[in-house]
Amino acid sequence: MTNKYMYFIANWKMFGGLNSLKSLNKVIKFLKSFKKNKLFEIIYCPPFTLIGPMANKLKFSKIKVGAQNCHESKSYGPFTGSINVSMLKDIGAKYIIIGHSENRQAGETDKLINSKIKSSLKSGLKVIFCIGETFSERRKKITNQILNKQIKAGLKNIKNRNKILIAYEPVWSIGTGLIPKSQDLFKSISFIKKKCKKSKVLYGGSVNPNNINIFKAIKIIDGYLIGSASQNSKKFIDIIKKSYN
Ligand code: PEP
Repeated sequence: MTNKYMYFIANWKMFGGLNSLKSLNKVIKFLKSFKKNKLFEIIYCPPFTLIGPMANKLKFSKIKVGAQNCHESKSYGPFTGSINVSMLKDIGAKYIIIGHSENRQAGETDKLINSKIKSSLKSGLKVIFCIGETFSERRKKITNQILNKQIKAGLKNIKNRNKILIAYEPVWSIGTGLIPKSQDLFKSISFIKKKCKKSKVLYGGSVNPNNINIFKAIKIIDGYLIGSASQNSKKFIDIIKKSYN
C-alpha cells in the first residue's frame, strides 16, 4: 500500500472524437467514491480537437486536461496548422506533453523542445517532459548518456523545474508490451532524479493493469504516462486502484 502523491497521465495520442468523452463518466464516478482520491492527480491529454470539450466536461471535477504538443511561439503568428500555448491555455489546458518520442522521431530536436518548454512555462502550463533511449542506444549501454543529453539540452536555461514532470519513456517500450527490468528502471529513475532534484519523475511505456504491480514496487516512481491503456477507462481505473491497494 502506498500513500505517496502520484500522477496518472492519459495520453490519448491521435485517438478519439466527441463520442469518446462519454468514457470519462466512469472515471468521474470512480473518483468521487475512491477514498484515496486526494492522493493523486489525473491528467487527460486528448488530441487538440477534444481539449476544449473535455475541459468543459471536467470543469467540476479534479481531473485536469493537457495538450500533447504545441508550436514554440508564445504569440500568434503566420504558422498554418499550428497551435500555440496561449491558445491551449485559453481553452482549458493546464498541462502539456513536450518531447514525446513519437514527435522526436518525426524530427523534433532538443533545441525545439527547449523553446516549447520555455513558452509553455511562460504561459503558465505545467510541462510533462518526455525523455528516453532507443533500443539500439540501450544495447550500446549509453542510456545515461542519452538521458543526460536530453535533460541538459531540453532544460537549458530553465529554472522553475518544479513545474516540470519528467516522464522517462524508453522508446522501445512505448506501445510494444515490453518493459524494462526493475533494477534497470530503478537506476534510470534515480539517475534522472539526481540530475533534476526539483522535478517529479514518472515512468511511461506499456503500463497496464497486469504489470502495474511491478512498477508499484519501485517506490521512487512518482506516477505514470499511459498511452493505450488510458483509452479504456476500466483499465485506467484499475491501474489507479492497484497503485493504492
Ligand atoms: C505513450 O504514448 O507515452 C505511452 C507510454 O504509450 P503506451 O502506454 O501505449 O506504451
